[in-house]
Amino acid sequence: MKNRIPLKVTAMVLTLFWSCTSKQEKTENRMKEFISNYEATVIPLYREMALASWNANITGTNEDWAKSEKASFNYAKIFTDNKNFSELKEIRDAGVVKDPLLARQLDLLYNAYLGGQVDTSLIAQQIKMETDISKKYSNFRVTIKDKQLSDNEVEGLLRNSVNSSELQIAWEGSKMIGPVVADDIIKLVKHRNTIARKIGFDNFHEMSLKLSGQDPVEVTKIFDELDSLTRNNFIRLKSEIDLYYSKRYKIPFTELHPWHYQNRYFQEAPEIYTVNFDKYFEKQDPVKLASAFYNGIGLNVDAILSKSDLYEKPGKNQHAFCTDIDRAGDVRTLDNIRPDSYWMNTILHELGHGVYSYYNDITLPFTLRDAAHSFTTEAIANMFGRLATNTQWMLKMGLIDVNESEKIADNSFKALRLQMLVFSRWAQVMYRFEKSMYENPEQDLNKLWWNMVEKYQMLTKPEGRNMPDWATKIHIALYPCYYHNYLLGEMLASQLYIYVTTNVAKNQSFVGEKAVGDYFREKIFMPGTRYYWNEMIEKATGEKLTAKYYAKQFVR
Ligand SMILES: [Zn+2]
Repeated sequence: MKNRIPLKVTAMVLTLFWSCTSKQEKTENRMKEFISNYEATVIPLYREMALASWNANITGTNEDWAKSEKASFNYAKIFTDNKNFSELKEIRDAGVVKDPLLARQLDLLYNAYLGGQVDTSLIAQQIKMETDISKKYSNFRVTIKDKQLSDNEVEGLLRNSVNSSELQIAWEGSKMIGPVVADDIIKLVKHRNTIARKIGFDNFHEMSLKLSGQDPVEVTKIFDELDSLTRNNFIRLKSEIDLYYSKRYKIPFTELHPWHYQNRYFQEAPEIYTVNFDKYFEKQDPVKLASAFYNGIGLNVDAILSKSDLYEKPGKNQHAFCTDIDRAGDVRTLDNIRPDSYWMNTILHELGHGVYSYYNDITLPFTLRDAAHSFTTEAIANMFGRLATNTQWMLKMGLIDVNESEKIADNSFKALRLQMLVFSRWAQVMYRFEKSMYENPEQDLNKLWWNMVEKYQMLTKPEGRNMPDWATKIHIALYPCYYHNYLLGEMLASQLYIYVTTNVAKNQSFVGEKAVGDYFREKIFMPGTRYYWNEMIEKATGEKLTAKYYAKQFVR
């Protein structure tokens, strides 16, 4: 008798357990079936899209661009299928997919399909608004004394002139695009918010971050941390910058205005510390150097280089990028290499993306053979790119001798530090402005912009200025809610660099250290996107993403 109750309970538990397992098994099988159908569709279309874009970027012909556009459209169309979305939603709502790889794919695919569930007429409207704004930006020319100047010419003037009134005219002239596009941008912002609300988000900023796997609260926390770690140091360096400019323009501190900072947004540091890095690369082949370096750390890049397009050609895209054609070993980079420090940095950077893709884990499902987040692959690329002007690296690669290395070490570090700090303050402005703008597009945006600029960049608003200066930055209109990733990438680059130089590498240049390649392959590249990015970072470095190491590397 004593046993009766426990027996009954056991039976109940068993039944519950059995039905749970069976529900779990059934749902997981549904997910497996979904994935196999999905892969059969997506793998060929993804490859077609990547190849078509590669070809278009090389030939530059209208015909190839048309093919590329069509292939991108076909790929994007996959995620608009609402029957498939409902299936994913049902599987997700059941809450019983426990297998970690299936659960992770469910998350990623659910977000991808959710983003595709917007009424196509709303999307078409958005694209039309973006195209109209884009045309206004491209047609705009700064007019100075009846002469029309391109953006490059204005940047050149701001960089080189030492005449305050000329600078003021150029800077103010560059801001005249603001009133041309501001109202259109506010309409577009509200339209994007409408789209976001239709699929269950508060606003477009929240939607963009969440669909890409970022929590705005978490990102803001990291930005706050970086702000407090860099603020005092930035105040000190800002007075060094102001001293430099006050000498350059022969004016007192109090007369320094935003047009005195050598570019339209004070997003780059002045060249207070100069090292002519180009001269060390004049007689070098950046491709050979990069290939020898990666090979030396055990990440052979021959297969990538053999498929790449490395040098200038007519019609070809003049910039650089890296692309993973099939997530199965066909990885290529497009560059326009010349023997200088810029292209040394660039080829190290692009091959950083390249090894991240190439050394993925082929046993993982297609969806998980990707970077943990776009900023994590940017971090790897930045970290390797920075080596181009790292004097230890240059020494070990035989580009300079010990004397030369000692001579330029201090200035090259100071130049990088200044650049990193100036950029970090600027990225704070961009992130916080966009976030607040999407939360409330009705507020006084002109005021919001200058509040951010004064707070984070410590520039002084010209007296009485009330213009839509925020609208002059094209990213706000056309590449929305992405800028913060550049700064997250720099932060992670520092975190990884310091982790590896402390725990893995014997020297700060990584040259010849197979252990470094092994570390990155095992801890970063092979896991792909099987873990949430912050989980991957924690597994690889023992800590979640933190601003601490960026501050450690660049704040003294
Ligand atoms: Zn990159």
